[in-house]
Amino acid sequence: MNGPFDPRSHAARADELAGRVIAITGASSGIGRAVALACAQHAAEVVLIGRNTQKLEAVHAEIAARGGPEASIAVLDLEKALARDYDGLAEALLARYGRLDGLLHNAGVLGTLTPIEHYDVPTWCRVLHVNLTAAFALTQVLLPLLKVSRDASVLFTTSNVGRRGRAYWGAYAVSKFGIEGLTQTLAAELETVGTVRVNALNPGRARTRMRRQAFPAEELDSLPLPETLTSPYLALLGPAARGVTGMSFDCQPSR
Ligand code: NAP
Repeated sequence: MNGPFDPRSHAARADELAGRVIAITGASSGIGRAVALACAQHAAEVVLIGRNTQKLEAVHAEIAARGGPEASIAVLDLEKALARDYDGLAEALLARYGRLDGLLHNAGVLGTLTPIEHYDVPTWCRVLHVNLTAAFALTQVLLPLLKVSRDASVLFTTSNVGRRGRAYWGAYAVSKFGIEGLTQTLAAELETVGTVRVNALNPGRARTRMRRQAFPAEELDSLPLPETLTSPYLALLGPAARGVTGMSFDCQPSR
């Protein structure tokens, strides 16, 4: 999927994200945690968004221990959050930073691997809500802050199954198809603004809880650690991808 700009071949400078405020959903574990640590390591001020305060505090402490710029924590359960919770987050970010330079939508749930014929409707609604609708709502409420930035990047997380349908991936696959559509639609709408780019990134297989849930019998050692996949995220969230918008990229070569 990668075009002339290939985020995989980017090697970020140590201070590449200096002066940028970057919010990350699902920063508590897996890929989101690894990207949060990498962003802070490259000098970004990171906003750790998630539902589990203890886990977010652990990531916050790790950033501090590594000497990164002070991060902040925003507790937001994407399954349960109401309009006032989104508004509260936007107000808190406005008060603390006055703008937002990056927004990574990484949080996600798998649901179940089940034929559409038998897919549980409440599970369908939950997966579509967390993976797609919440990402839409969060983007909408944070757009005014993103528009203040001189160079803002909205990055959605996609998947192979969001580009080509695969049996039994149900609501998860459909949510990622929705993410691809949201990326293109929002990118087209913001082209005239010029300072807010919108792209999607597929991490590919990674050694995380979600992958384990999808493939319980898989040999874990064969999977890349999230820490090894962060470079394309830094490229797309930072200045390297300025002007790139409406695209869907891959972290790993296709297999
Ligand atoms: P993971 O280890 O299961 O992490 C998922 C993250 O989402 C966790 O931080 C989790 O928080 C958070 N989250 C889930 N429900 C939430 C909610 N209701 N409110 C707030 N946060 C919530 O999965 P991962 O593999 O790192 O996945 C990260 C992204 O990559 C997802 O969008 C996934 O679809 C995508 N992806 C992963 C793979 C792969 O092989 N791993 C492949 C393609 C795409 P808690 O820590 O509190 O549970």
